[in-house]
Amino acid sequence: MRILGVEGTAWAASAALFDSETDAVFIETDAYQPESGGIHPREAAEHMSDAIPRVIETTLNEAAGDIDADDRSSSSKRVSPVDAVAFSRGPGLGPCLRIVGTAARALSQSLDVPLVGVNHMVAHLEIGRQRSGFDSPVCLNASGANAHVLGYRNGRYRVLGETMDTGVGNAIDKFTRHVGWSHPGGPKVEQAAKDGEYIDLPYVVKGMDFSFSGIMSAAKQAVDDGHAVEDVCFSLQENIFAMLTEVAERALSLTDRDELVLGGGVGNNARLREMLAEMCEQRGAEFYAPEPRFLSDNAGMIAVLGAEMLAAGDTIPVADSAVDSNFRPDQVSVTWRGREAD
Ligand code: ATP
Repeated sequence: MRILGVEGTAWAASAALFDSETDAVFIETDAYQPESGGIHPREAAEHMSDAIPRVIETTLNEAAGDIDADDRSSSSKRVSPVDAVAFSRGPGLGPCLRIVGTAARALSQSLDVPLVGVNHMVAHLEIGRQRSGFDSPVCLNASGANAHVLGYRNGRYRVLGETMDTGVGNAIDKFTRHVGWSHPGGPKVEQAAKDGEYIDLPYVVKGMDFSFSGIMSAAKQAVDDGHAVEDVCFSLQENIFAMLTEVAERALSLTDRDELVLGGGVGNNARLREMLAEMCEQRGAEFYAPEPRFLSDNAGMIAVLGAEMLAAGDTIPVADSAVDSNFRPDQVSVTWRGREAD
């Protein structure tokens, strides 16, 4: 089976081709880069409408190239270069989602193949679960607009802990905007933190949930008060990642699981991965982080989960395929996993 994935929830106009026979994933991404400030929804949507046709065309050309190769060794002709079109239905920025949804519906109809509506946050965690080969891990999604700790139970990914305010990457990006650094801020904080020392910043875990807005405001204030930006970056990372690690550990304990997977763009951070790996090692659990191209938003994860959903018959009629900017991971009925994993 070959699945075309289309992603465009915020900044990444991305298309991918997943071949379930070879397990190969081709990804073409065109990133929106704000001229100043953070992600502006209207500008991001303009970027989507400009870039989505291009990345899809490149990806379909890749698929057509494979077919030419197939045709040389086989007399059977494929009607369509792909067997289904999978797209991000949400969560994300409404104006971006609507453009991507329209493109996916048009493609599914013109290629005469099924449409698969994928939850972007479930795709962030499923790519780690599938690539790790873990049975039923706890999943930490640390992305720009979200932060969730999830565990699978009775046919759904249950949200065990989540942010009470801003997403974890967005908190970091808001701090770096204040400092005057360009978007995205996460990699710049990681770099600056290498030369920093710890200063006191808030640490907010409430039950199984975390809050990032207070620490983000305190970090801005600390810079305004004259603390070295390297020290603030170091301390911001230490506290935010310790908060995520604490809740992930409690989730492992609560669910009696011994596997943890990481998803989302903040997962690119080596210090976060180090803390999670150390916590897992100390409690005898296994830890897996996908390769970088599957961490930040990408259509590869949409195509890979789309293939699983298609195999389970989980397709969506065009009439029911409206996007949902608040689509939560626990709204998804997980059709593609056996009940034995409950
Ligand atoms: P969502 O996936 O929730 O819709 P998104 O599309 O903004 O949100 P991702 O593409 O998963 O999120 O991740 C982007 C975020 O990752 C940005 O906030 C960026 O600053 C952050 N990020 C990227 N690299 C790093 C890094 N090395 N350290 C910390 N944060 C990072």
